Amino acid sequence: MTPSHSPTLDTGTMRIISAEETHVAQNYRPLPVVLAQGEGAWVTDVEGKRYLDLLAAYSAVNFGHRHPALVAAAQEQLGRLTLTSRAFHNDRLGAFATALADLCGKELVLPMNTGAEAVETGIKVARAWGYRVKGIAPDAATVVVANGNFHGRTTTIVGFSDDPSARSDFGPFAPGFVSVPFADAAAIEAAINENTAAVLIEPVQGEAGVVVPPEGYLAAVREICTAHNVLMIADEIQSGLGRVGTTFACDREGVVPDVYLLGKALGGGILPLSAVVADRDVLGVIRPGEHGSTFGGNPLAAAVGLKVVELLATGEIQARAAALGEHLEARLAELVGHGVTGVRVAGLWAGIDIDPAVGTGREVAERLLARGVLVKDTHGQTIRMAPPLVIRATELDWAIEQLKVVLAG
Ligand code: PLP
Repeated sequence: MTPSHSPTLDTGTMRIISAEETHVAQNYRPLPVVLAQGEGAWVTDVEGKRYLDLLAAYSAVNFGHRHPALVAAAQEQLGRLTLTSRAFHNDRLGAFATALADLCGKELVLPMNTGAEAVETGIKVARAWGYRVKGIAPDAATVVVANGNFHGRTTTIVGFSDDPSARSDFGPFAPGFVSVPFADAAAIEAAINENTAAVLIEPVQGEAGVVVPPEGYLAAVREICTAHNVLMIADEIQSGLGRVGTTFACDREGVVPDVYLLGKALGGGILPLSAVVADRDVLGVIRPGEHGSTFGGNPLAAAVGLKVVELLATGEIQARAAALGEHLEARLAELVGHGVTGVRVAGLWAGIDIDPAVGTGREVAERLLARGVLVKDTHGQTIRMAPPLVIRATELDWAIEQLKVVLAG
């Protein structure tokens, strides 16, 4: 395992950080480490120090850094064809869409790039479905969302966020969204009326701190949506593709939403790839010319995405996440009352609330960094763990030992 790291940075590292701080807009506040290499669950900085990556690029690196099969798929495609735009067909998109639709048990796939684009696309699809299929009056369609949501950073999306740092000074915002408490199915039902096109939820709220709704919530939302002829849209961009120990977080309750929004790990940790997946009666409402993206569905992304779906189709990575998740949950439970005030776990994904007496989430993340463990803080007192799903139990144990030391001061 990696020895403890000195928090002092050498001058080369300081120079790189300073160049970044001088010329990159300050829309993030990265931890003071400059990464240069990665393999599996580990990354190495420019000084040669190794770190166990317990963030996995917010779940985009579910398969680990540079998974050999994914790198091979990308390299093979790099030698053939990378980008054509959707003005033409390419020989990779069909195979990817077929495999992904199959994985989701749906008929159609609309490929995009980033998660926020998938969410925007889902909203457009829901509105078009509302007008063209459900018969909602022009421009009256609404979408019910949950408090504490995080669906991305576009102006429409931050308009229905309740996080001041996401929305302050970015208005005016698009109308047409109704926000209700998360994990409260009755509140969703009360918010629905004849103009409601969709309910958009994260099955587990990731950025909020891995907030897991009580069992029965997703099934209740499914029932309510069906009863009121409203689309259930599951934003599985962070929760899906193995993270919680099942292919989708909705699977935990045997729920099938009308629309899946996927992203992050779909690109294999190599490139941005997102998708909206639904049946023809929903996604078929979009007509040529109404929506698109220059890079959406490009052959390079499709080749990588196909390999991602093939890896998921065996169920192996999901089983691994489920087993390791149980282990993680048991180990983290030991920390409650010892510098930790609460823990929420779903598969290999954890939100850990730090006792303010120990420090802030950011301070704990910095102390873990010095000990060779990468995590990310969220909302002040919480740290989040989302390790690559290829991590070993012994590596997880080692990381938890580091956390114990940090919590002990
Ligand atoms: N939806 C969810 C649930 C997310 O967690 C995120 C990103 O963290 C997004 C959407 C936005 O994805 P992207 O950053 O790729 O736009």
